[in-house]
Amino acid sequence: MARLTLDGVTKWFDDDGDRIVAVDDATIEIDDGEFLVLVGPSGCGKSTTLRMIAGLETVSRGAIRLDGAAIDDQPPTTRDIAMVFQSYALYPHMTVRENMRFGLEESTTLSDDEMDRRVEDAAEMMGIADLLDRKPSELSGGQQQRVALGRAIVRDPEVFLMDEPLSNLDAKLRSQMRTELQRLQEDLGVTTVYVTHDQTEAMTMGDRIAILDDGELQQVGTPLECYHEPANRFVAGFIGEPSMNFFEMERDGDTLVGEEFAYPLSAETAEAVADADRVTLGVRPEDVELVSDADADHDFATVVDVVEPMGNENNVYLAFEGNEADGEGVDEDRRTFVATVDGMRAVEADQPVVARIPEEAVHLFDADTGEALRNRTLDAAETTLPSV
Ligand code: ATP
Repeated sequence: MARLTLDGVTKWFDDDGDRIVAVDDATIEIDDGEFLVLVGPSGCGKSTTLRMIAGLETVSRGAIRLDGAAIDDQPPTTRDIAMVFQSYALYPHMTVRENMRFGLEESTTLSDDEMDRRVEDAAEMMGIADLLDRKPSELSGGQQQRVALGRAIVRDPEVFLMDEPLSNLDAKLRSQMRTELQRLQEDLGVTTVYVTHDQTEAMTMGDRIAILDDGELQQVGTPLECYHEPANRFVAGFIGEPSMNFFEMERDGDTLVGEEFAYPLSAETAEAVADADRVTLGVRPEDVELVSDADADHDFATVVDVVEPMGNENNVYLAFEGNEADGEGVDEDRRTFVATVDGMRAVEADQPVVARIPEEAVHLFDADTGEALRNRTLDAAETTLPSV
């Protein structure tokens, strides 16, 4: 059993008298066996959070608990926690077997036979049993990463901490290791905190994700909650690829008026934004529909700027009509927004199209605070899988 609690955890560094707050009052409850992904842009405080859990940094304020007991005062070696880094940090002069055994020798009193057994079991699990007598320099990057993971597994810890462990791998291997890691974590049932700046990793791997920006926790939720019900504009823009489209609008009664278009709201939606004068309208690329005729309030004449074929789908960059330079394509300085459409759909640059932004798909944020005032409505049928 290992429930990990971060309770108002804060970390500041003193930099020549200036205080740099790296993590500000983070509270997260991570369940036993849960896979929590900590995600955010560079410098948001992910690694510092992980290092505090590992005991490699002190906590300036707040507490970290394992099954309810504070561990802040324990040195890293006595915390039952194993960490895997981006740099594999293998000892170059030791064989794989010695690298995997080393941590056990340092931190346990297991018999030689038991250590050998654990190393061999972990090597089997990671598919590196035939590499045990090689040195790290004789291994590929992917194999080295498996050794680093194997070394964490042999310790049989209460908690795994992983800091961007896949970022040195090429895209294909990364995606394969992602699946392997998830399966492994599920089999072992070890509580895991996984740090990445890659929102795809966060979406695909985490039971829940915690999104940090500038040291502040923005939202903790399942990947789909964060995707469909973002707490604020930051989360909405960070999660999802291509990013959500945003338009700055002023509220004029029940209509939102922007530089390029006006968007009438139903009474119910207008009510949700009644207290805000300036509103950011957000819509995900897959929710923008391309239709043939403009016949509704939420249909807009646009022209295709660029088409990015992805194979299964096309990302179509659109500009509102009137933004073309002298009828010769889209003026480079004008902003575009993106619609994702089926890959088989033929769309070409400079083609006029009608973009439909359905009201049920629209997210609205307070333009001053970024707080979500209204998220897209989800049909129950969209969120539950049909039973087989
Ligand atoms: P990245 O993805 O780039 O590794 P991160 O989200 O892991 O970034 P941290 O390394 O946790 O971010 O850093 C958070 C903030 O704390 C940054 O502004 C960083 O400059 C600052 N910081 C980290 N360590 C120290 C230190 N020892 N002294 C001063 N400031 C530090």
